[in-house]
Amino acid sequence: MSLLSILRRSVWRLALFFCIGLFVSSIFIGQAETQNQNKQNKKDCIEIPKGGDAIERNRRIAVLVQADSLIQKGDFAEAAKLQQTVKKPFPSGMGALIAPTRDSESLDGGANVYWRDGQDGLKQGLESKSLINLGKLSENYPEFIPGHIKFAEASLRWNQPEKAIATLDRAYGLYPDRLDILEPLLPLLTSKKLFVEASVASRQFGLNYPEHPDSAKYKKLADEYLNQFLNDFRTDALVTGVISIFNGSRERKVLELILKGESDFGKESAEEIKQSASLVTEPKLVDYINTIGQKLAKSAGRDDFNYEFNIVQDKALNAFALPGGKIFINTGTIADVESEAELAGILSHEIAHAVFSHSYLKITTETKTNLLKGISFFKTFLDITKPELSFGRSLEQQADVLGTRILAAAGYSADGLYRVFDRWSGYDKNRSTGWLDTHPASSERVRYLQAIIANRNYNRYSLEKIEALAAARGELLCAVDKTELDPKPPSIKKPEENKLIPGDVPLKALLTKEDVTISINGAKVISSGNYVLNLEITNNSKDDFAFVPAFAKVANAEGKRVSTAFTSKADKLLLVTPNETVKANFAIYQQPWRPNASQDLILEIKEVTKGTRVFRIPF
Ligand SMILES: [Zn+2]
Repeated sequence: MSLLSILRRSVWRLALFFCIGLFVSSIFIGQAETQNQNKQNKKDCIEIPKGGDAIERNRRIAVLVQADSLIQKGDFAEAAKLQQTVKKPFPSGMGALIAPTRDSESLDGGANVYWRDGQDGLKQGLESKSLINLGKLSENYPEFIPGHIKFAEASLRWNQPEKAIATLDRAYGLYPDRLDILEPLLPLLTSKKLFVEASVASRQFGLNYPEHPDSAKYKKLADEYLNQFLNDFRTDALVTGVISIFNGSRERKVLELILKGESDFGKESAEEIKQSASLVTEPKLVDYINTIGQKLAKSAGRDDFNYEFNIVQDKALNAFALPGGKIFINTGTIADVESEAELAGILSHEIAHAVFSHSYLKITTETKTNLLKGISFFKTFLDITKPELSFGRSLEQQADVLGTRILAAAGYSADGLYRVFDRWSGYDKNRSTGWLDTHPASSERVRYLQAIIANRNYNRYSLEKIEALAAARGELLCAVDKTELDPKPPSIKKPEENKLIPGDVPLKALLTKEDVTISINGAKVISSGNYVLNLEITNNSKDDFAFVPAFAKVANAEGKRVSTAFTSKADKLLLVTPNETVKANFAIYQQPWRPNASQDLILEIKEVTKGTRVFRIPF
């Protein structure tokens, strides 16, 4: 007997769980009309979202069609100008990272004290002196790489390997191109038998930096760690015990499936889904999705998979990756995207989950953990597939980073994935479906996707391939919507030059530390050299939060303080009580306002309440 009975329900949950991270109900798409007369064994037609912004959407799509034709003629510059008229600029400085450094001379006075005292503590063998100072350095000055390394060293010395791992892991998340963080991190992970984490971290470097001379070395290491983990899993007494004792049990069958390895696991799970789901068989659309997917997968850096791209007839906005490169995308998602670049962005994200072995590793580690805890294994298998226990922020971020690289490498506009998330993050606000409750990271996700594109100089004004998408899905569209997709180029205004207009400007940057968020929410430009930031301090912690406005400062890229004035009601101390939000203005003088760009400045606010948090917010 096949695993059908065991897996049918669980695989479906699994499918939801390995999805792009957004489980938006079909509420967004509305009720699809049933067209039973359909020849191609499909139950629903694909509906294009309706709504007040349909005109705006059509205008945008028409402009992108024109830009595509310019790119095909080789005129990238004009195409970029055209796209800039319909793509909103990234808020200045949003998500910008402070450039990493190993130079302690570049640190400010506070950081120097932490660095000196922390090292003295290490030399003198003083645990708290060393841990407290280096901990603060690592937390508040993440750009100083030796701070993390020394803090990890001190944590290990005083028997806190988890802290050492967490420190380097966080630093590697911020600066994934730094081998000087990855190298000390790997032996720490393997010493705690965290082979899965070591495998993912190594593969992250190998895949994200294919041009680096050590790329192949880290990909090979990733494979070795993965094998190490699976060997451990196979020889684990509990696993073999369950297999030998529970003859014929559901537990045994699931374990056996896991032990077959990643590709077989993916293949069998995918077969289950194909049998129970309604798959689209319309050859034109199937070919189209498969061609895009295979092209993207070629540059994903893992060729031991048999990649497959399937279309599920389902209006929900979803896509998911099973182990071994088995990707599924819903018709609802295909209907929602505005261009092939967006579609490719979603597929790239799913391919990235697959190449990092996220789903397979998650299943095996959770299974083992729960076996060790003695929790009924099959129940656990179902439990781990609940959406709220999804990949979590760091694995989603890994998939977004690699996904965006794959997308850009294939020649599409690098903001394809970003635009999908940006649009979807608006859906929840306007239609309040409650998805934000289970996916609170979405606005943050939009921010770091912007940062990935900006920091790596990916081209966000490249091919969109609007017409290819329209042709492929055209026949499947609900009749009523077909006309809405016909691109009718409107008259296009010449893009305006970036000229300064006094008044309110969008500017967004924020930082949260232990439930206190300081954000810059817009600014008012007074003249070319003077502007006022709108600050908002939200305290969601249980304690008061306060700082001295006179000590708040803004420094430029060289670390020089610029002229400022704080204007709030509280001159001496600005107090934000628990669950309170306080607004204030902070004027910046003699700094040129740069429209549509980062101001290249850093706002620094130091806490004076119980804690000693330092908020350094680039904008
Ligand atoms: Zn995802």
